[in-house]
Amino acid sequence: AMLANVKKVDPKVQAFLTVTGEEALEKANEVDKRIAAGEELKPLTGIPMALKDNMCTEGIKTTCASKILHNFIPPYSATVAEKLDREGTVLLGKLNMDEFAMGSSNENSAYYPVRNPWDLARAPGGSSGGATASVAADEALFTLGSDTGGSIRQPASFCGVVGLKPTYGRVSRYGLIAFASSLDQIGPVTKNVEDSAMVLQAIAGHDEKDSTSAAVEVPDYRQSLKQDIKGMRLGIPKEYFASGLEQGVKAAVDAAIKQLESLGAVCEEMSLPHTEYALPAYYLVATAEASSNLARYDGVRYGYRAEEAEDVISMFKKTRSEGFGTEVKRRIMLGTYALSSGYYDAYYLKALRVRTLIRHDFDRAFERYDAIVAPTSPTVAFKIGEKSDDPLSMYLSDLFTIPVNMAGLPAISIPCGFDQGMPVGMQIIGKPFDESTVLKLAYNYE
Ligand code: GLN
Repeated sequence: AMLANVKKVDPKVQAFLTVTGEEALEKANEVDKRIAAGEELKPLTGIPMALKDNMCTEGIKTTCASKILHNFIPPYSATVAEKLDREGTVLLGKLNMDEFAMGSSNENSAYYPVRNPWDLARAPGGSSGGATASVAADEALFTLGSDTGGSIRQPASFCGVVGLKPTYGRVSRYGLIAFASSLDQIGPVTKNVEDSAMVLQAIAGHDEKDSTSAAVEVPDYRQSLKQDIKGMRLGIPKEYFASGLEQGVKAAVDAAIKQLESLGAVCEEMSLPHTEYALPAYYLVATAEASSNLARYDGVRYGYRAEEAEDVISMFKKTRSEGFGTEVKRRIMLGTYALSSGYYDAYYLKALRVRTLIRHDFDRAFERYDAIVAPTSPTVAFKIGEKSDDPLSMYLSDLFTIPVNMAGLPAISIPCGFDQGMPVGMQIIGKPFDESTVLKLAYNYE
């Protein structure tokens, strides 16, 4: 049924880059046989799902929506893909995204943009736009996205679905094609909070193949959903309600906060004073790491290689000039500049210091509050093409999501109403490794 729906709606939504039709049906048939044999199945067995195309899948093309990986078939699978496979989920295919996860609208895909199922003239957000649009359009029951500066939460809010960015280190990044390694984190996109808890349960945990994955115990997430939220203290950061926030978005989030209060939570206005520096610091840290991570695409070992080069150097140059899109090149140039000698201290080192200040803001807040509640994005989904000529205004779309990545915290975006007929998202930010509280609050609200 899901594959039939993909066939029907995806020519319009364009959420998929690869559909694994036959393998998916084969696996589904196997599950049918196991059910017929009376076997007891794990909770996610047989569930049709899809993965953002920056997660490696053995034998299945993985492009990162870039021309430079147009023919890349990984010889191994990401840990998350393997874990879900062991749960018995059925992979329907690989999802469209901004090239190398750089973007906020999905217009940076080298293949075709994703469209928002609520209004096909609008962007689904990004960079996990394929992951959120496919869930909103019933093309998969859940998907995995990745979030470096908001790329799960912002598109989840634009598409009216639930998107969770776990704590940095909670989910293995092994086999996730790197954008900015100190910020990237994989997480679930689902229709509701209970599904989010179930998928997180399946993918979380220490992985010896990822040295940054944390050896922290994984609690039973579904269990925590059942508790109420009476007396919980929630901080409402005033910097997230300042200029740039659309009135309709503010109204929807204000109403959601009222509802949390009526459920017994105690909400209080507070301050995260360094918020305004998060975005500029992010665009130094993320581009610096990207410029270094993307140095591996040289046309030698895998991926695209330009033809008619005269020597090795011209082969590198031609391959990278032809293989990378405009936004990726912009990031490589910015990052290379920030890391170059003479500028390193002024830009990169300073950005790292700012990052520490941002984390301290949150540390201090969590001495007083159990969680922080804010809008996910300052606006609802914008029109395709509206911001594509103006990278700065595009970058501002992640104003409220980026501080969370800089501090490595868990945060969820859940639907909380509409503005101009488009979904609005509310963001709940938690203490490190306290996804349980984030999920509990979201579930009680929902
Ligand atoms: N939109 C942000 C960027 O372009 C975040 C991307 C992401 O989270 N992958 O860098």
